[in-house]
Amino acid sequence: MLIPMVHVPALVRMKPGALDRIGIYLHRADLKKVVVLHSHGLIESLQKRMNESLKSASIQTLLIDEVNDASFESAVASLSKLPADAQAIVGYGGGKALDVAKYVAFLANVPFLAVPTSLSNDGFCSPQSSLTLNGRRKSMKSRLPHGVIVDTQVCLEAPRDLWLSGVGDLVAKITAVKDWKLAFHKHGEPVNDLAALLSDSTVRQFMACPRHDPEGARLLGTALMLNGIAMEICGSSRPASGSEHNISHSLDHFAERPRLHGLQVGVATYLVSQLQHHEHETIGRLLDETGFFDAIRRDPFLRSDWQKALEAAPKLRPERYTILSEPGSAERLLQMIDEDPRVQGCFV
Ligand SMILES: [Zn+2]
Repeated sequence: MLIPMVHVPALVRMKPGALDRIGIYLHRADLKKVVVLHSHGLIESLQKRMNESLKSASIQTLLIDEVNDASFESAVASLSKLPADAQAIVGYGGGKALDVAKYVAFLANVPFLAVPTSLSNDGFCSPQSSLTLNGRRKSMKSRLPHGVIVDTQVCLEAPRDLWLSGVGDLVAKITAVKDWKLAFHKHGEPVNDLAALLSDSTVRQFMACPRHDPEGARLLGTALMLNGIAMEICGSSRPASGSEHNISHSLDHFAERPRLHGLQVGVATYLVSQLQHHEHETIGRLLDETGFFDAIRRDPFLRSDWQKALEAAPKLRPERYTILSEPGSAERLLQMIDEDPRVQGCFV
């Protein structure tokens, strides 16, 4: 029997002020020549803090580059600029910069350090990079980061919608794991119990303290990170992504104005959980308490976008059995959009 190798981050910091200690962490890890790939439009004070932290620990920054789009093409362009003596790549900012930096590090086979400035989804510590190739979004095989450094205070200061997007992407693990188990019962698809348990238990920890404060940020960041590790353990995105993600991917394709990943996923999770007869009330309460649904109501989705996306979603990944594979699911979800009291005002 082949025993799979699981690579997990060797360096993890999840605390306020971690950003100002990055130089120290890199120095201790003997990674003294680095490249920083950061988000387009990253605020100046955050850029300055990174630079000062590296400089104060005598870390040589060989290259600082801005990532404008999360495409395979821009990852290849970054790779061509990579100095041969780079000992690590630091991805800094939002999801796009981290996806590109992670992929460049994977191709170049150098350690990658993820330094997200918000907790908007689980991508900062997943074994894939979400990149466009010829304009179409794809999940490219990549590797988990060598280091995950989350300054929880920085993430708390990010716009609230980014936080709520992270809550939506986290709560999705409940329906994703349920879909995985449905696929086992229907088609015998094997479930990796450790990955499923890890994914599920991290959500419970955040649910016990779903606050927008330092402890809530530590729990949300840790949960999103451990979901990436659950994916690495089982070699599949199953513990993190089920029918609710299918709907979100479909919205990315069909919506006039696709929205933050976790906002789409969170609403889809709430709806899908009712079809699954699984934790619907718990999920609804969490999304109410965190102000998630209020944020959606301030900028509602178009019902027509969801109608198109729901009709197409079951055909997106036909090989992956989820609750959406069952006949009539899309129609029932659309009915919930019209009738469920909790989502009233979330669609126009
Ligand atoms: Zn997601």
